[in-house]
Amino acid sequence: MFTDLRHRRPRRAGARRRMSAVAGAAVAALAALTLVWCTAAPGAAAGSPGQKIADALRHSPVYVDPSLDSAVGAAERQRLAERIRGTRLPIRVVLVPLVEGDSWGGDPAQLAEVVHDRLGGEPSIIITLGDFPEDIAAREWPARLHQAQQAAAAVFHQSDMEGAGTARRVERAIDIIAAGDGEKEYEKATADLNGPAPSASSSGPGASGAAGAPASSGSPVVRMLTLVAGPLLVLGAVGLLWRRRARVRDLATPFALPRSVFAAARRADEAELRERAAREVVRLGEEARAAQGDPQAVGRALDAYSAAGSVLDRARGVPDLAGVFALIAEGRAALGSEDAPLPLCFFHPLHGPAARVLPWRPLGRREELRVAACESCVRAIRARRAPEVLTDREGDRPVPYFEVDTARSLWAATGYGSLLSGEPDDSLAVRVQRGDFTRTLEAS
Ligand SMILES: [Zn+2]
Repeated sequence: MFTDLRHRRPRRAGARRRMSAVAGAAVAALAALTLVWCTAAPGAAAGSPGQKIADALRHSPVYVDPSLDSAVGAAERQRLAERIRGTRLPIRVVLVPLVEGDSWGGDPAQLAEVVHDRLGGEPSIIITLGDFPEDIAAREWPARLHQAQQAAAAVFHQSDMEGAGTARRVERAIDIIAAGDGEKEYEKATADLNGPAPSASSSGPGASGAAGAPASSGSPVVRMLTLVAGPLLVLGAVGLLWRRRARVRDLATPFALPRSVFAAARRADEAELRERAAREVVRLGEEARAAQGDPQAVGRALDAYSAAGSVLDRARGVPDLAGVFALIAEGRAALGSEDAPLPLCFFHPLHGPAARVLPWRPLGRREELRVAACESCVRAIRARRAPEVLTDREGDRPVPYFEVDTARSLWAATGYGSLLSGEPDDSLAVRVQRGDFTRTLEAS
């Protein structure tokens, strides 16, 4: 079973929430059919960037943003287009830079959704840049038909693709999609990562794959509509669902911190990082207070919020500010729908949420730790390269934060979440609340 290690999966509760949103949307379609065609996803309005890309794709299956001209030149675009034509599949390549605050919120899935929507929702396979440097992503409609998502994920892990450049990666993904064995290729490319995948128990077309599913046209609600209201209404309902899909997806996973937040945080200097952390703390507080659902989960989110606030108030530098982000991630995970959400990347929490847990032995130490790491760090370790590590100071010399005496660093003691005991009542928030962070301030 394919588990996309680059993304974590929402559990079934998320799917249920998605279904009820879908049901709500279907009912809305019955009530107000005339509104159907006026409801458009953000970034999808006529003349919008999404429309512009869709228009260009009518002429060529390869769209490259002018800013990426030097990375994927005219000859390469031509070659990709020919390769795509050879497959006779509805593959489109959309290469645009993804940054925070762009029309797609820096999210490749959102970009693909919007473009697919503007293409009229026809069966498509859309390849975009991915969440990581040197990463590509794919979505397809109907979902999973050609294992496109897995194909793109496989390329990320194939060792001969390291440093190969975007065009060659896309070319490889096209070949795998055409062969239809993305899942097998993915298994093969990740076979030597012997750590367990996160929440591998969740299966079925949930998760990121579900975002590519056309909002369940086979759902009981839609089937019932077929019987009751006839094909025209169904068409309207499905139209609304498709137009609303981007928003439905957002409802399903509203709490994960977008990767673009971390990308910006990594580039920020300390003062800016502090500001960003403060903004995210405020946002977590607002969302926790507005959240409805399991009161215990909301309580945990509020605990994380108050712990994040108190660490922020006394943060001495980047390692503490990274701790604020780890607490925010913990709070958001409590509000989210994942079974066993992973913490932020152990090696550098500003890499964002970890993709998987893997065994790792610190230099000069006997015992092996199990740490959660982002995809980029997983790949570095797999290639026996040192992952990029967050540094702290021991005296005046910079050292990996996890080498600092644990009496002086809560983050060395916890690995920003990776090294917690795993007991249900152990969390970063609990440790901050019981004074562990304050003690490190006193010890310094
Ligand atoms: Zn990392």
